[in-house]
Amino acid sequence: METKRLVEKDPALKKDDLIVIGGAGGFIGGSLARHFHKRGFNRIRAIDKKPMPEWYQRTPGVESLVLDLSEEANCRRACQGAVEVYNLAADMGGMGFIERFRIECLRSILINTHMIEAAWRAGARRYFFSSSACAYNTLLQQDPAVTALKESDAYPAMAERGYGWEKLMSEMFCQEYWAERGMKTFIARFHNVYGPNGTWDGGREKAPAALCRKVIEALDSGKRSISIWGDGHQTRSFMYIEDCMEGIDKIMHCDELIATPINLGSSELVSINELLSKVERIAGAKLKREYDLTAPRGVGGRNSDNTFIQQVLKWEPGTTLDVGLRATYAWIKKQYEARKKGKRVVE
Ligand code: NAD
Repeated sequence: METKRLVEKDPALKKDDLIVIGGAGGFIGGSLARHFHKRGFNRIRAIDKKPMPEWYQRTPGVESLVLDLSEEANCRRACQGAVEVYNLAADMGGMGFIERFRIECLRSILINTHMIEAAWRAGARRYFFSSSACAYNTLLQQDPAVTALKESDAYPAMAERGYGWEKLMSEMFCQEYWAERGMKTFIARFHNVYGPNGTWDGGREKAPAALCRKVIEALDSGKRSISIWGDGHQTRSFMYIEDCMEGIDKIMHCDELIATPINLGSSELVSINELLSKVERIAGAKLKREYDLTAPRGVGGRNSDNTFIQQVLKWEPGTTLDVGLRATYAWIKKQYEARKKGKRVVE
């Protein structure tokens, strides 16, 4: 039987305590570095395996290192002196990527396995792991009229092949580092995150960014038609990046949530067809829809049950899709136009 351990209160994070962020060349990690920098933290170490020019965001004043965190020695280097460690590094993408590259997804287990050990050895006080709604039992997600997923729905386990199983195993590492070694670990199950500075092209992008780009392309080329993966009836919820930042910060600093997976997602459910209609309204256009029934479509429906997060944090992601999509569309349009001129906009 689980025994409840005594949770020692630790000091509040000081502005010069070292914060380490893995995967900071990507969407969420890069935004997190900016989030902490804006709040006045002055020792942030950002790490990614991508060459520096390919990082989505670079925040001035943040130490940036190019290291492959699937290697143990690199994780030790990354975590040296860390007070808090955030692991946002993973080989990931939208459905098109995670259905096709299961081995790459599974190999991300190396990153978390070495990072958590290195964090513990370095004496880090807190460790954050970015899990996913893909860790949930897929049998509960067949119907587009989905019942929102609550935290206990991960077991009995039947996670998304590859990506989801890696998340589930890494969650377990986090739980055991608390149970056996007393490091405070925190696990958020993100439900689709979108916003400016996310992947919008190249095969790893998710539905909101993909649809914004396709609408922009259709208008630019004058083709005025759009291809949709699946029949458009699949439902999902999408969380705006700023809500994700706030949620990570709140979860990581809540002792009630130690080693306890929690949903971090929006509960505003939309079908892919509705999502496209929203993008069209922003663009002021109406396009002909062509449904590609052979393309990856993922589970039938998925939503976040936010009962637990409301109960513990008295908060849940609140940015509406209409507001978040508007900012995302504007940002992707800027990237698209810059790329056409042979430039790349890094903010
Ligand atoms: P992203 O692809 O933009 O960022 C991930 C970053 O990790 C990339 O920059 C990549 O280069 C880096 N990385 C991969 N392997 C690495 C390695 N071996 N060493 C160092 N860096 C490495 O993805 P994201 O959207 O920012 O996702 C961040 C985290 O959140 C991931 O763990 C992801 O699984 C999780 N997540 C994201 C979403 C979402 O909707 N974006 C949903 C659920 C979970």
